[in-house]
Amino acid sequence: MQNSQHAIADSSTKSEQEETNMRKTTMSLDNTSHERGYKDEHTRNSKENPKMNTQGTARKTSQPDRPGLDELVPSRYALKVGAIDVMVVSDGVLSLPESMLGHNVDPAVRAAWLEDKFLPPDVLEWALNAVVVRSGDRTILIDAGIGADPGLNLPRAGKLGQRLQAAGIDLASVTDVVLTHMHMDHCGGLLVDGVRERLRPDLRIHVAAFETKFWGGRPDFSRVHMPPGFPDALRRTAKRFLDEYDSQLRPFDKEYEVAPGVLVHRTGGHTPGHSVVRLASGGDRLTFAGDLVFQVGFEHPDWYNGFEHDPEEAARVRVGLLRELAANRESLVATHLSFPSVCHVAVDGDVFRWVPGPWEY
Ligand SMILES: [Zn+2]
Repeated sequence: MQNSQHAIADSSTKSEQEETNMRKTTMSLDNTSHERGYKDEHTRNSKENPKMNTQGTARKTSQPDRPGLDELVPSRYALKVGAIDVMVVSDGVLSLPESMLGHNVDPAVRAAWLEDKFLPPDVLEWALNAVVVRSGDRTILIDAGIGADPGLNLPRAGKLGQRLQAAGIDLASVTDVVLTHMHMDHCGGLLVDGVRERLRPDLRIHVAAFETKFWGGRPDFSRVHMPPGFPDALRRTAKRFLDEYDSQLRPFDKEYEVAPGVLVHRTGGHTPGHSVVRLASGGDRLTFAGDLVFQVGFEHPDWYNGFEHDPEEAARVRVGLLRELAANRESLVATHLSFPSVCHVAVDGDVFRWVPGPWEY
């Protein structure tokens, strides 16, 4: 105690030059590892600990020849689901108005929830997570982030390309893309300049037939509550995606097994073709829930998110999935839960409780 008080007192009398030096030292630390590929890292980590993540390799890896890849924030987290390799990769953060939390509840109730969670009152900082899965001989990218900012002032997202590269994942190694749905924060990353050229010509993109039909026609926005500019940007991005990737789309009806133990399953609700990805291997299970579950959805599964095209159905499907995950105790990962978002679900009276998983190093 004495020591720490002493340290605090000391730090208050540090000269400006000393403080600058301290900042420099802090900024030069590197908490990520980029030299090793995903598979190599994973193999090594798996030998030591089958669920170890790549941040476990705490080496100094400053790489002046690879500018822009070194970051102080963790942006990837790897784990195993039986024999399946899973890596959550962050596309960044979306700053959205707090009313997106639940447009069917009193603003004072939303404000109280935010206060209770130590969150700012006016803006939601939404994580934006994608996932890379390896099973059998397939490498599957589940969702692709938002891509280039569609003129909506979302500068903290759209980093998936750089972060996949930093993780040693080459776009040319991706055999399949699964889209949980076609909102721009899930498919926009495929429209970034140069991405299509780096993807394999035989890439297969799995998305529910309901979804391609919805966006290919006149999508219904009558029930959403989005900030101005979003509906147009969403329509534009989805149409462009359908145009550019038409020949690679592999629409499925209800569900499709992309690789051993990797099943994409249509739920509807958030959008008509919204889907989740269920992973199962060796008795282990994990579900990537896309936009079916938001942070507030554990305590308030009946709050209507502003981006839900059929909010009643979205709430119904959300409750069903959360009940199932609580009963079978499997892991949950979702697009907009705080990175890396690996967690469990517990039943708490009439609602649910979010149980974040410990980071495993
Ligand atoms: Zn989303």
